[in-house]
Amino acid sequence: MSDTNDTDGGPSAGGDEFDAPTVTCERCDREWDLSTEFEDLGVGNHAVEQFALDHRRHTGHFPDGIGTWRAVCRNCPEEVQRLASDAATRWAETHVRHTRHSVEIHHATSDEVTVVGGDSESE
Ligand SMILES: [Zn+2]
Ligand SMILES: [Zn+2]
Repeated sequence: MSDTNDTDGGPSAGGDEFDAPTVTCERCDREWDLSTEFEDLGVGNHAVEQFALDHRRHTGHFPDGIGTWRAVCRNCPEEVQRLASDAATRWAETHVRHTRHSVEIHHATSDEVTVVGGDSESE
Protein backbone atom coordinates (compact mmCIF):
# COMPACT_ATOMS: atom_id res chain seq x y z
CA MET A 1 0.00 0.00 0.00
CA SER A 2 2.18 2.80 1.23
CA ASP A 3 4.90 3.09 -1.25
CA THR A 4 7.83 4.22 0.81
CA ASN A 5 9.62 5.97 -1.89
CA ASP A 6 11.90 7.97 0.27
CA THR A 7 14.85 8.27 -2.02
CA ASP A 8 15.39 11.78 -3.17
CA GLY A 9 13.17 12.64 -5.99
CA GLY A 10 15.92 13.92 -8.23
CA PRO A 11 16.62 12.64 -11.66
CA SER A 12 17.05 8.92 -11.48
CA ALA A 13 20.62 7.91 -11.14
CA GLY A 14 20.24 5.26 -13.72
CA GLY A 15 23.84 5.50 -14.72
CA ASP A 16 23.37 4.25 -18.21
CA GLU A 17 21.79 7.34 -19.58
CA PHE A 18 24.97 9.33 -19.25
CA ASP A 19 28.41 8.07 -18.66
CA ALA A 20 30.38 10.12 -16.27
CA PRO A 21 33.06 11.60 -18.41
CA THR A 22 36.68 10.85 -17.88
CA VAL A 23 39.23 13.41 -18.84
CA THR A 24 42.84 12.62 -19.47
CA CYS A 25 45.84 14.85 -19.91
CA GLU A 26 48.94 13.53 -21.51
CA ARG A 27 51.05 16.45 -20.44
CA CYS A 28 50.15 15.98 -16.79
CA ASP A 29 50.09 12.21 -17.18
CA ARG A 30 46.85 12.13 -15.25
CA GLU A 31 43.29 11.05 -15.58
CA TRP A 32 40.23 12.45 -13.84
CA ASP A 33 36.85 10.97 -13.30
CA LEU A 34 34.32 13.76 -13.42
CA SER A 35 31.44 11.86 -11.90
CA THR A 36 31.24 14.23 -8.94
CA GLU A 37 31.19 17.35 -11.05
CA PHE A 38 28.88 15.61 -13.39
CA GLU A 39 26.32 14.97 -10.69
CA ASP A 40 26.66 18.42 -9.22
CA LEU A 41 26.20 20.24 -12.45
CA GLY A 42 23.78 17.81 -13.94
CA VAL A 43 24.76 18.62 -17.44
CA GLY A 44 27.67 16.66 -18.72
CA ASN A 45 28.98 19.12 -21.18
CA HIS A 46 29.26 21.82 -18.62
CA ALA A 47 31.19 19.61 -16.28
CA VAL A 48 33.75 18.90 -18.96
CA GLU A 49 33.82 22.49 -20.12
CA GLN A 50 34.29 23.77 -16.62
CA PHE A 51 36.97 21.25 -15.91
CA ALA A 52 38.82 22.04 -19.10
CA LEU A 53 38.73 25.75 -18.49
CA ASP A 54 39.91 25.30 -14.93
CA HIS A 55 42.66 23.00 -16.06
CA ARG A 56 43.86 25.55 -18.51
CA ARG A 57 43.68 28.31 -15.97
CA HIS A 58 45.94 26.35 -13.66
CA THR A 59 48.27 24.68 -16.09
CA GLY A 60 48.12 26.74 -19.25
CA HIS A 61 46.90 23.90 -21.43
CA PHE A 62 43.77 21.93 -22.10
CA PRO A 63 43.31 18.26 -21.34
CA ASP A 64 43.48 15.75 -24.17
CA GLY A 65 40.95 15.94 -26.89
CA ILE A 66 39.57 19.22 -25.69
CA GLY A 67 39.86 22.41 -27.58
CA THR A 68 37.90 25.55 -27.54
CA TRP A 69 36.21 27.45 -30.24
CA ARG A 70 37.36 31.01 -29.95
CA ALA A 71 35.25 33.84 -31.20
CA VAL A 72 37.40 36.91 -31.60
CA CYS A 73 36.05 40.24 -32.67
CA ARG A 74 38.03 41.99 -35.35
CA ASN A 75 36.86 45.42 -34.26
CA CYS A 76 37.03 45.41 -30.53
CA PRO A 77 38.76 43.46 -27.77
CA GLU A 78 35.83 41.17 -27.12
CA GLU A 79 36.49 37.49 -27.33
CA VAL A 80 35.11 34.34 -25.82
CA GLN A 81 36.12 30.72 -25.66
CA ARG A 82 33.56 27.96 -25.81
CA LEU A 83 33.86 24.24 -26.06
CA ALA A 84 30.83 23.97 -28.29
CA SER A 85 30.83 25.40 -31.75
CA ASP A 86 27.19 26.40 -31.37
CA ALA A 87 27.95 28.45 -28.33
CA ALA A 88 30.81 30.27 -30.02
CA THR A 89 28.73 30.87 -33.10
CA ARG A 90 25.80 32.08 -31.11
CA TRP A 91 27.98 34.55 -29.26
CA ALA A 92 29.43 35.76 -32.54
CA GLU A 93 26.03 36.20 -34.14
CA THR A 94 24.74 38.13 -31.17
CA HIS A 95 27.79 40.33 -31.13
CA VAL A 96 27.45 41.01 -34.84
CA ARG A 97 23.80 41.83 -34.48
CA HIS A 98 24.45 44.42 -31.82
CA THR A 99 27.66 45.94 -33.06
CA ARG A 100 27.89 45.17 -36.78
CA HIS A 101 31.42 44.06 -36.11
CA SER A 102 32.81 40.99 -37.74
CA VAL A 103 33.92 38.11 -35.61
CA GLU A 104 36.38 35.37 -36.41
CA ILE A 105 35.62 31.94 -35.11
CA HIS A 106 38.70 29.82 -34.67
CA HIS A 107 37.74 26.18 -34.78
CA ALA A 108 38.67 23.87 -31.98
CA THR A 109 39.47 20.95 -34.17
CA SER A 110 41.32 22.49 -37.06
CA ASP A 111 43.03 25.67 -38.19
CA GLU A 112 39.92 26.80 -39.93
CA VAL A 113 38.55 30.23 -39.28
CA THR A 114 35.00 31.23 -39.99
CA VAL A 115 34.06 34.86 -40.17
CA VAL A 116 30.64 35.94 -39.01
CA GLY A 117 29.15 39.27 -39.87
CA GLY A 118 30.71 42.35 -41.29
CA ASP A 119 29.58 43.70 -44.60
CA SER A 120 28.26 40.83 -46.54
CA GLU A 121 31.20 39.65 -48.49
CA SER A 122 30.49 38.98 -52.11
CA GLU A 123 31.46 35.54 -53.17
ZN1 LIG B 1 47.31 18.91 -18.01
ZN1 LIG C 1 33.21 43.78 -31.49
